[in-house]
Amino acid sequence: MTLFDSAAFEGHEGVHAFFDEKSGLKCIIAVHSTARGPAAGGCRMWPFPSADAALEDALRLSRAMSYKNAMADLELGGGKAVIIGDSRTQKTPALFEAFGRAVEDVGGKYWTAEDVGVSPADLMHARKTTRYVAGLTGGPAASGDPSPVTAEGVFRGITLGVRRALNRDLDGVTVAIQGVGHVGAYLADKLHAAGAKLVITDVNDEALKAVAARTGARVVSPGAIFDAEAEVFAPCALGGAVNADTLPRLRAKVIAGGANNQLADADVGRAVYDQGILYLPDYVINGGGIINVAGEIRALDRGEAFDPAWVEGKLARLMETLDEVLDRSKAEKRPASEVANEMAKARISRAAEQKKAAA
Ligand code: NAD
Repeated sequence: MTLFDSAAFEGHEGVHAFFDEKSGLKCIIAVHSTARGPAAGGCRMWPFPSADAALEDALRLSRAMSYKNAMADLELGGGKAVIIGDSRTQKTPALFEAFGRAVEDVGGKYWTAEDVGVSPADLMHARKTTRYVAGLTGGPAASGDPSPVTAEGVFRGITLGVRRALNRDLDGVTVAIQGVGHVGAYLADKLHAAGAKLVITDVNDEALKAVAARTGARVVSPGAIFDAEAEVFAPCALGGAVNADTLPRLRAKVIAGGANNQLADADVGRAVYDQGILYLPDYVINGGGIINVAGEIRALDRGEAFDPAWVEGKLARLMETLDEVLDRSKAEKRPASEVANEMAKARISRAAEQKKAAA
């Protein structure tokens, strides 16, 4: 594959590759769109088998961030950074300082934050060499762990989905949660407090035990979660949970969770719809985390303190957008995943036209 042939390249404004011999940094920063504002998206550190694989991931993820930020009504475009390396053995302060220099080189067109393999502590090293970093642990603008806000959005989304699909509230409804890590555990607590019954799974026994002890959840094996007798399936682990193998096994009437890329592909989105399951598009329902990060970017930009009320306003607006996606899906008899993609693209194109007209 060459860069320009990749289907994932489509629409990208820029792709930047950096190599720092001294620290060993090899990273790619993909900027999909700055139409709505500077591109924002986390930095992932992963032992990619090749530079092509890293590039493909960076491109795919940066475009997804454009869609997510547009649906969250943020004045931010989409971008993503990937560092090629093993986060368990290859992290050093010098590596993240070099990464900060790479971000700075992009000249404010890209804001970074944490993602898989990168922690707030790593970002504090990047902060020494760039302004364009959020998700920090200290200072008045710091937004803290985004997971509780992500979980709150997913909780509200599930409430909305259950009302729409089953015409009831959460009391007595059974929710099957795949993955009780950061987002899944907060979500389990919220659902339990609302009277929902829980079936949970994880590959991490400690996390499972802690959540089960707090919520009375029934624990099942990772493979059995797809067969659980539950009205809602909430993927909160890795991508691709809903695929051609798992979909026929699901009993749920609603799919709504925190994980990114829940549908293995667009065909599965169509199959979910044809099977009469209400799917709440992942990058809409899980937008709470990036809203929280955006709150920090806004505070840093303005030299102000982080404002939780601004975050709450955006989260409430996100839930209205989610409702609009589901309304349109119903009215137009089309999968919600298709409707969300179309709305996100339209929001980005509109911003690009306005920017062009203003130039
Ligand atoms: P996390 O790593 O804390 O939690 C994921 C959990 O899934 C872990 O406990 C892990 O053991 C478990 N898991 C992994 N493979 C599994 C399997 N096959 N079966 C069952 N459990 C499995 O991550 P997180 O921050 O909670 O994020 C969860 C998902 O939500 C990810 O897809 C992430 O990209 C997405 N997301 C997170 C946020 C956020 O604010 N943290 C925001 C948006 C999207």
